[in-house]
Amino acid sequence: MNKRGRSRIWLGAALAALMSFALTPGAAQADSGRQCSGGYVAITFDDGPTTSTAAYLKALRDAGRVRATFFVTGTLAQAQPDGTRRIAADGHRIGNHSYTHPDLVGLDPAAAFAELRDTSRIIRAQTGRAPALFRPPFGSTDARTRQDAARLGMTEVIWTADTVDWSGISTDTIVANALTVRPGGIILLHDGLQTTLAAIPKIVDGLAERGLCAGKIVRSATPVEAWPGLTFHAKAARW
Ligand SMILES: [Zn+2]
Repeated sequence: MNKRGRSRIWLGAALAALMSFALTPGAAQADSGRQCSGGYVAITFDDGPTTSTAAYLKALRDAGRVRATFFVTGTLAQAQPDGTRRIAADGHRIGNHSYTHPDLVGLDPAAAFAELRDTSRIIRAQTGRAPALFRPPFGSTDARTRQDAARLGMTEVIWTADTVDWSGISTDTIVANALTVRPGGIILLHDGLQTTLAAIPKIVDGLAERGLCAGKIVRSATPVEAWPGLTFHAKAARW
């Protein structure tokens, strides 16, 4: 075999070695195979945007470009217009959480509808997209509220794992509460809390240990129970 032949064989062997190296599943690839095998859950943040929203967005990026749904109020969106724009720019979903955060059930019908309509208009003006998801303040809802949301093209979203993060509990308790979520479920968290901000990477890690990934919220044909006596039609699914 001449020199040229040998070098050609060497080149072939080197290429084969390189290819097999590139194609051999490394640790990271093996992990991505396990990832999401447990299904999807939705991470949601209510009551923003706030002055902490940018830090939340960074925490989600740092946790592996995890995507979430932010239910914003119209008043806060007007107060922090950069907040909604940044949420949308990072690929998260924005939902309607009413204009002034009232208990909609006790409100005059026209005022209740205006709470939803005005907020959808603000979100559309700020992000170019009208929200398709609606979460009633306090989870307080009734047939009329659902009808108002439907009239504006929105699906009502409650939650299946309430972290009670607003109540002054520790980050670890927030994480533990979030991780009670089941596949397809929806975790309720709030914008503007340092304890919740610190919980974000721990929640993502805890979900990953169970093979769960953060998903988007879609309509569910079957009713989902938020608590005894209240069902809604939304669940988490792959983005
Ligand atoms: Zn709220």
